Amino acid sequence: MIINIGSLKGKKGAFLQFANDMSWQVAQGSPQIMEECSPLHVEGRISCTGRGFYAAGSVRMTLKLRCTRCLQNYEQELTGSFGEEFLPESQAMEISEEDVDDFCGDLSTFANDEVDLSQLLWDTILLSVPMKTICRPDCQGLCPSCGRSLNHEQCTCTGHTIDPRLADLADLLKE
Ligand SMILES: [Zn+2]
Ligand SMILES: [Zn+2]
Repeated sequence: MIINIGSLKGKKGAFLQFANDMSWQVAQGSPQIMEECSPLHVEGRISCTGRGFYAAGSVRMTLKLRCTRCLQNYEQELTGSFGEEFLPESQAMEISEEDVDDFCGDLSTFANDEVDLSQLLWDTILLSVPMKTICRPDCQGLCPSCGRSLNHEQCTCTGHTIDPRLADLADLLKE
């Protein structure tokens, strides 16, 4: 998504608000992401900081994810927020290493009055994907012996019917 900031140039404090629904190509970048189930919804504002432009807002998107326990796909709505300053490409070249510490996060640049938020928005969604994607809190996962999904059926293998979190307790009860 590209925002033209021509009208904000030289007006410190001036801002533009934006809201958009964008379709994205099939997700790449995370093995748990299977596909997109909704457009990426974004809303926020971009303001002139004097030296550059600061974009902040939130994103929302529903993705089909793969459960790391039972390996089934499920849909989850993800949300995230972002805030990043963009500097003119020409100016960013002159910034020394020490100055970079002034910026929260990475230093981004733009050229030709056009600030491209695409990478920032996508990174924000990727960051909102949980490390461990789980289809539901009580997902039973797969039987380690036969591989059946224990959410749907019980198998005849032994040793897996006890929740690992309760295993210690079960041991105590046996004694
Ligand atoms: Zn699951
Ligand atoms: Zn089994």
